[in-house]
Amino acid sequence: MIVEMKSGASQEEVDSVVERAHKLSCDVQLNIGTNKVVVAILGAHTGQISTDLFEVLPGVASVTRIMRPYKLASREFHEEPTTVKVGDLEVGGKGIVVMAGPCAIESYNQLRSTAEHVSSHGARVLRGGAFKPRTSPFSFQGLGSDGVEVMYRVRKELGIPVVSEITDPHYLDAMIDRVDILQVGARNMQNYALLRAVGESQRPCILKRGLAATVTEWLQAADYVLSAGNPNVILCERGIRTYETTTRFTLDISSVAVVKRDSHLPIIVDPSHAAGHFALVPKLAKAAVAAGADGILIEVHPDPVNALSDGLQSLTFSDFATLMDDLRAIAQAVGRTI
Ligand code: PEP
Ligand code: MN
Repeated sequence: MIVEMKSGASQEEVDSVVERAHKLSCDVQLNIGTNKVVVAILGAHTGQISTDLFEVLPGVASVTRIMRPYKLASREFHEEPTTVKVGDLEVGGKGIVVMAGPCAIESYNQLRSTAEHVSSHGARVLRGGAFKPRTSPFSFQGLGSDGVEVMYRVRKELGIPVVSEITDPHYLDAMIDRVDILQVGARNMQNYALLRAVGESQRPCILKRGLAATVTEWLQAADYVLSAGNPNVILCERGIRTYETTTRFTLDISSVAVVKRDSHLPIIVDPSHAAGHFALVPKLAKAAVAAGADGILIEVHPDPVNALSDGLQSLTFSDFATLMDDLRAIAQAVGRTI
């Protein structure tokens, strides 16, 4: 961290910066110019120290961070890419993992037929929401723990791993023995009690990017799960709010490349919630695979027109089958498999 003093700052003001650095167990290096002093704050943990602690001191002109503010999620901390194991499945390896299923679990028949279809076309994980985080309290809220039971039944019958969203630490008991991957949704990316609970559960988790979160904030959220003792974090880009109104959210495809550069964690992309429309979803899914995503999380419904949630962005069975063929060709072109 570099602390630039105001020109003409007093010796006392410089001393107070040095004193604070020492209190925070950091070393300092002083650069004394003709009319300006620059103090370098050194230490392996400076990424975790708030710049405010120096900015607030009298005589300080500016503070610039050099270390990233996240640690456990960073490549500096962990150089080799992490793969997350879900049973026999590996997320973050050569294979691109397609996770597909309805937005919300509506019934046994709906989930079972979707599971059969998507798995027969190469999806390796079944998705489905039981506890739905809806923008309006008057929208369908999901089947709750009954939905978890439906999912568990389909999981047992077909032997396919499942992912479902947890919206509250209280639901952990209902989900922990029934769900292979816990999803933390975009609206909960900064729900720190939930992140800690998911961390303590040790269960593989998908951490979605908050709809107004920077990549740095997202990786700081990942640090919550990692620091609670859970190394099995899969990041999921699902689009962010921008000024653009033609899509539901703007898919920040560049975050895939940024995360691959700055973090060791696997990253998947959800083109469904980004696009908001079934006609756009396949194109975004293909862009994600081309950009280096380790997987795709996609909404598929047997009857999108009558879906209880997100029907407009859900793929039909036949659209999903076509997409899988296209994705295989792109995966091959970028040296991956599906
Ligand atoms: C979902 O995947 O069901 C969901 C609600 O997504 P998001 O949290 O990205 O909005
Ligand atoms: Mn949805």
